[in-house]
Amino acid sequence: MKVITIAKTGDEETVEPGFAELVQQISGKELRQCYHCLKCSAGCPINFAMDWAPNQIIRMVQLGLQERVLSSSTIWLCASCETCSTRCPNEVDLPTIMDTLKEMAIQNGIRSQQAGIQTFHRVFLNCLREYGRMHEVSLLALYKLLTLNPFEDMGLGIKMFRKGKLNLLPSRIENVHELETIFRTFGESKRSKI
Ligand code: SF4
Ligand code: SF4
Repeated sequence: MKVITIAKTGDEETVEPGFAELVQQISGKELRQCYHCLKCSAGCPINFAMDWAPNQIIRMVQLGLQERVLSSSTIWLCASCETCSTRCPNEVDLPTIMDTLKEMAIQNGIRSQQAGIQTFHRVFLNCLREYGRMHEVSLLALYKLLTLNPFEDMGLGIKMFRKGKLNLLPSRIENVHELETIFRTFGESKRSKI
């Protein structure tokens, strides 16, 4: 790790030289071939809300600006819609890279400015781990409790329940324990469980 000074602003930045390699290794995706044509950012439907455009995230990963990348709102706002990866001339798999960066941020204990999204991410994965499929009632109940907002969207929940869109009781897939192997393969530790 080394510290550089940005000539334009005078700000000090920490550079982690092995960061790009590490992201590639964990995600299994190449990002060095990105030549910053901006096609991904031009098509991204969430770009307007992000602090850094998707191509800027790739550039910062290439430069080793680990702290800036892992604390950015962009990685949490990415909706994994895959618009960017279908437009990319170099087949850079941005959604998978964004997911990897999310997990790296969690492993490094970096709290997102979008704390609600980070909590939702954990609750979502926890639900998959527990049942092997989504159970909306468990997901929403836990999410609302953890975000200390238990009554928000209650009216919508009741409407959905009346229309038969919500099952109160969860069901498990067969051999749900096999999912544990997948979580472990991708570095999801027990520690990160809720
Ligand atoms: S579209 Fe692909 S090559 Fe172009 S900037 Fe985005 S990631 Fe890089
Ligand atoms: S996958 Fe993420 S980065 Fe790519 S276009 Fe969709 S929201 Fe934007």
